[in-house]
Amino acid sequence: MATMTEPTVSHYQAYKPRPFKREERKDTTILFGGLTWKHERLIQGVMQNMNYNAMPLPNVARADLDAGKELIDVGACCPTIFTTGNLVNFLKSETKHTPKEEVANKYIFLTAGACGPCRFGQYHESYTMALDGLGMRDFRLFLLAQDQLDQGSADGGGLEINLPLSMGLIWAILCADVLTDLEYMTRPYEVTPGQTDKVLQESIEYLYQVYRNRPVKENKWAMLGWHLTTNYFTSALRKVRKMWDAIEVDRLQVKPKVKITGEFWLQTHEGDGNYNIKRWLEQEGAETIPPPIAVWLHYLMHPEIRKLEKRQTMTRNAKIKLAVLQVVERIYNGTYNRFRKALANLPNELPDQIELKNLAEPFYHFELRGGEGHLLIGKALHAYHHKKANMICELTPYSCMPNTMSVGSMANVLGRYPDLLYAPIEIKGDAEVHALSRCQMILTEAKKRSARDMEDVLEKTGLTVEAIRKYEARNPDVRRATYRVPHTGYAGTSANYVAHLAESGRVSRVSSKAPAGCC
Ligand code: SF4
Repeated sequence: MATMTEPTVSHYQAYKPRPFKREERKDTTILFGGLTWKHERLIQGVMQNMNYNAMPLPNVARADLDAGKELIDVGACCPTIFTTGNLVNFLKSETKHTPKEEVANKYIFLTAGACGPCRFGQYHESYTMALDGLGMRDFRLFLLAQDQLDQGSADGGGLEINLPLSMGLIWAILCADVLTDLEYMTRPYEVTPGQTDKVLQESIEYLYQVYRNRPVKENKWAMLGWHLTTNYFTSALRKVRKMWDAIEVDRLQVKPKVKITGEFWLQTHEGDGNYNIKRWLEQEGAETIPPPIAVWLHYLMHPEIRKLEKRQTMTRNAKIKLAVLQVVERIYNGTYNRFRKALANLPNELPDQIELKNLAEPFYHFELRGGEGHLLIGKALHAYHHKKANMICELTPYSCMPNTMSVGSMANVLGRYPDLLYAPIEIKGDAEVHALSRCQMILTEAKKRSARDMEDVLEKTGLTVEAIRKYEARNPDVRRATYRVPHTGYAGTSANYVAHLAESGRVSRVSSKAPAGCC
């Protein structure tokens, strides 16, 4: 009699990387990516400082979108598709000349991981799907939690996420952030085209060596103390400032200031993944305010602080934890400010997270986590109220749940503040003309506003462009990239510059009026 056979059930198996052993370190390269080339180069320095071979993936390109679409869930958000495709294309190019097994042994991939309501918590699943599609499930990828500085060793002990590594990574990110701010406030006004990029490249290469040669202490607490007290990084940044002294700028060029906000990866990225929108804005005659990663890291500290503050009863442990977190926050802000100070306080200061939360509160509750949460609303209103930008350009990934909520809430914000110039740009990766033309429409109005501000400040101060030019000819220090123009209440740089020259008495109303008959 024939027997019935049980149908075989194939259960889902979560991806678990095979161990990365300590003795494999010297022959294995850690791949990483997802930030700007500046952040990645400094991170590479930190990893090498900790005796790892490390290499950033090539910058994301348009072809990565196609590679990602082929292998992962079609409904995935555009950053997931781009970044997965980026790894896929790298592995494909390697396996063209090297057997798959060898590639899987030669490299591991380290990426940020998180839990939460958005797909960020599922990134690794997309990577796994792609590895399956490539027939390389044996390839190892490891997650770096964003909220733990000391995660211990990954399976096998080859990778150790400890305090010395995490401190180095955070310090490198903050350093690349302040330099990126300097870059974006200089390049639109440079007198010699290409000079900013050249000096930036030299600065990053110099800082890469600084991070690579960072003194490493055996004891992790000694390492922590050293980071908090050393002048090692600030004196390096002061040297960088001297390099930037050589750049001559013309701040009388009237340009609207455009603040970039949006989903973390899209707003940080510089390249095809966001249609290179930051450079494009500069070509269109704008000054861009890039989003520092530091604001995001600062934001990550706050849910825990809020949770503790809202407790009904404060136990002794809760009080201690809250006090520790508040001290960590102060150290974090203090470090960022020390880096800014070494660069003549030119980079923008970090916004106050409580203020961002309070500004966003009527429109988006801070406990709605996922993506950038309430930050997008808070940052737009912060720039609006403090007159820090003429326009907000929010980069929203196609198929992103948290950003879609934020854009929806902005409709309410705009109802309350109709003169806030806001361009929500949906990024799919393959609809460039549509996205950029939408941005251009709002930019046209921003240009008019910055021109009006310039007319206004010239009229109020009684100065003329000709008089300022004459003053600049006699005082070239004001045309240096490192000359600090304080914020005097206008959004645009040129209007602030004129107001500052008048307020400081450097150019006076009387001397600005050319005598009759004078050229
Ligand atoms: S925030 Fe949006 S775009 Fe970013 S990972 Fe989450 S779902 Fe994707």
